[in-house]
Amino acid sequence: MRQHYDIVVVGAGPAGSTAARFAASLGASVVLLERDREIGVPVRCAEGISDLELRQYVDIDPCWIATTITDFGFFTPSGKMIQLQSRAIGYILHRRLFDHSLAEIASELGVEVFTKAYVYNLKRTNNKTTLYLKYIGREKEIEADIVIAADGVESRIARFAGIQTKLAMRDIESCAQMMLANIDVNPNRGDFYLSHNWAPGGYVWVFPKGNNVANVGLGVNGKYTGERSSLEYLESFVSEKFPTATRLTTTAGGVPIVTHLSELVTDGLMVVGDAAHQVNPLTGGGISSAMAAGKIAGLVAADAIKKGDTSVKQLKRYQTEWNKTAGKKHKRFHRLKEWTLTLTDDDYEEIADALQGLSPDEVTLTKIFKAVVKNKPSLIVDVLKAFAGF
Ligand SMILES: Cc1cc2nc3c(=O)[nH]c(=O)nc-3n(C[C@H](O)[C@H](O)[C@H](O)COP(=O)(O)OP(=O)(O)OC[C@H]3O[C@@H](n4cnc5c(N)ncnc54)[C@H](O)[C@@H]3O)c2cc1C
Repeated sequence: MRQHYDIVVVGAGPAGSTAARFAASLGASVVLLERDREIGVPVRCAEGISDLELRQYVDIDPCWIATTITDFGFFTPSGKMIQLQSRAIGYILHRRLFDHSLAEIASELGVEVFTKAYVYNLKRTNNKTTLYLKYIGREKEIEADIVIAADGVESRIARFAGIQTKLAMRDIESCAQMMLANIDVNPNRGDFYLSHNWAPGGYVWVFPKGNNVANVGLGVNGKYTGERSSLEYLESFVSEKFPTATRLTTTAGGVPIVTHLSELVTDGLMVVGDAAHQVNPLTGGGISSAMAAGKIAGLVAADAIKKGDTSVKQLKRYQTEWNKTAGKKHKRFHRLKEWTLTLTDDDYEEIADALQGLSPDEVTLTKIFKAVVKNKPSLIVDVLKAFAGF
């Protein structure tokens, strides 16, 4: 590891590897530091992404794909199902392989990659940042012109640089997930279970990874986790729906369900991915947003290095570009999320009743919208606001 790099990227998830790759593609010297011993492990993700989103950032390698999703099923508390044909092909990935590949692609462009490299502090003086790390258990200091904080939802790097990252409980989805084997699942359908009893303020997902294996998990809005933990909710759901399943893995993690941080940059530092709360607030999906942010940030950072200007003013181009693109979409999804929080279990039943009898390709957002408004006319203004722009 050298003493100095133009750009130091902290965290080798999709955001960090993508930022590193695009910065190196413009000739910057880049190092990617990952605290864990293996990139992509542990997997704290249901691994779902659409083909359309993925293709924008990377050529798809078939070995990443566990299964292809063509349909979605939505289950009400009483067991009614609405089946919806997916507008775009979806995938359930093998995140471990996927994350490995993203780092590998970056390294092919000259990015130096180090695992077991934990950054625990930083200090900015004279337009340079010193990063303090433990690398394979040893203390080390390196210097950067720009730091890209891609250190996930529990990010400390942005906080060290003085950026406010605190989340209110109601703005976090507390998630738990098990990979279950020996279960009966449709290998091409992603299922969602909606009920205040299963996952208050969130939903349960069953994402197949093959014929008899699936990621089964749930997110509970943080304001409800004082009563029971997300893992307890998941235990109940699994016992009810998959009592004989074999539990291959159990993980937990938080997902921010707000719009992104108000400050994404400061002098010599940019924040990307979960660390910047750049997650779709409606679905909790963050892989493609992390890559979108990583790409913009990497390009803007390398350009700033070329110009010899790493000031907040120069780096702000990343924030402006993000606001115009994915940031704008996330604001709409956030309104939709707020609206879904007003729905009750009875609403889900009545919406399902209104859509019964339609074939999967006939169920559209407009039909769901009509069913909701018919059921609860008082919601029309909220629903119109939420759907505006879709
Ligand atoms: C249960 C669950 C299910 C999910 N399901 C989906 C889904 O189906 N689809 C989807 O799109 N999204 C999903 N998400 C969200 C998705 O996983 C994240 O949005 C995505 O991984 C964000 O990428 P990232 O690179 O920003 O952060 P991460 O993938 O979290 O990567 C951050 C990296 O930084 C490293 N790091 C942290 N601190 C340091 C440090 N100080 N020094 C060095 N390295 C450090 C970490 O070890 C980690 O490798 C899910 C999340 C959870 C919790």
